[in-house]
This record gives sequence, C-alpha cells and structure tokens, in this order.
Amino acid sequence: MELLKEFEVECVRADNPGPFTLDGSNCWLIGRDPCWIIDSGPPIDAHLDRLASEAAVRGGVGGIAVTHDHADHSGGLEGLLARVGEVPVGAAAMELATVSLADGDTFGPLSVYATPGHAPDHLAFVSSEVIFTGDAVLGEGSVYIAPDEGALIGYLEALDRLIALELKLLCPGHGPALGNPRERLTEYRDHRLERERKLVEALAEGLRSSDELLDAAWGDVPPILRPAAEATLAAHIDKLAGEGRLPEGAERPSIGDYGGL
Ligand SMILES: [Zn+2]
Repeated sequence: MELLKEFEVECVRADNPGPFTLDGSNCWLIGRDPCWIIDSGPPIDAHLDRLASEAAVRGGVGGIAVTHDHADHSGGLEGLLARVGEVPVGAAAMELATVSLADGDTFGPLSVYATPGHAPDHLAFVSSEVIFTGDAVLGEGSVYIAPDEGALIGYLEALDRLIALELKLLCPGHGPALGNPRERLTEYRDHRLERERKLVEALAEGLRSSDELLDAAWGDVPPILRPAAEATLAAHIDKLAGEGRLPEGAERPSIGDYGGL
C-alpha cells in the first residue's frame, strides 16, 4: 500500500491468528532515526525478533506506545524491551509503562486519544494524517465492547471525535491498513447504532432474556463470537439503562473475562 510508504509506516504482524485476532496482531513502526513502535504484540519470540530487527533497520526505537493492556497487544513488551533496550513505554495504565498517557498528551510523534469501549484504558494514536486504532477499530469485522461504566457512550463519543479529524491512513490492531479513515470510523459508529436500533426494537416487542435479545440483535454472529456479542449486549444494556431507555425485566448477561483475547 502506497500510503504506508508515504507516511513511513510498516506493519509487523504476529503469527497469532484467531477469531478475535483475525490474521494476527498488528504491530506498527513509524518514522526513522529513531522509529516509534505501536504495540509489542504477543510474547512470541520469532515475532519479537522480527519487530526488533525491523526497528534496528530504521535506526532504533524512540519509544513504544501501547494501545491497551490485552495480551495480544502488550504481552510481548518485556521481551521487546529485552531486545531493543530500555526505551520509554507509554500506555494508559500498565505495569511496564514508564510514561502514563492520557487523552490530549503527546508521546514522541504521537498524539494520544482516549478510546474506551473495547477496553476501559484503550488509547488510539495519531501522527500527522495516520491513526493507529488498536482494537477500537479493526481493518475487518467489528470489535466487542467490554461492559464497563459508560463504556459504550465513551466509545461513541471517541469515534465522533476521530471522525472529525483529517486523516488519510488507518492502521488497526488487526486486519489490513485502510485508506479513508473517516469512512471506516463512520461505519463503526453506524454499526453500533444499528445494533442499538435492533436491540431497542427487540425490547419493544417484549423480548427480555439475554438469549432472545442476542438472537434478535446479534443473530448473524458466528457461535464462536457469541460470548463477545454477549459482552457487547451488556454494554448496550448499560447504555440504555443510563439513558433511562431500558424497560423493566431486561436481562443483562453475566460476563466472563475476555481480557486476554
Ligand atoms: Zn487485539
């Protein structure tokens, strides 16, 4: 993709494919002398070797920014630091982070955007006209929203802020890089609102159990992603409850831990 060259961006994809990780976790390098890395990826030696050697070709590492603390994005951090040396690590809230990042901060060439939803501490990073979205927005398919107070409202607000930016290249945590970020970001917002519309419709028809609601609004989701859809349903129910739009008796699914996915 020409845009990657234009913005001096490169993807090193880890070999950890799966229903949540698509072809694997994307780790991104941007710039040279030094370059900056977005996400370490998982703790797979061959992957970390490749990431470190690509970074060395680019004149070393200025710092590592982490989108969120899920194992497929940050699990390899210790191994990566062992390979590239003690460089600054920026993240929202993480044990290995040396720089604590929040919305509006800058970290090297990166501007920090809080993008809660998939994880409460999720960050996106923008450098000139490039956005690194982590798992807030993927190159293919959709993401699950982890139910957390205000998660979905915060997520939709974050998407609206990103939609307003002038961007040319979207580099996601999984799936291919995409041109026209605004189109993709808008699709993501519209997709969430469409799920909400279906959910509200199902509730209006009198459906209440989480299984019925899932069938009605997430019926197209393959069985392996059903637990993730359940988590997302809980986030949608929390949003409706917060807005006073949830009818009595609607079942909020009890949620397992998807933090490692
Ligand atoms: Zn991920």
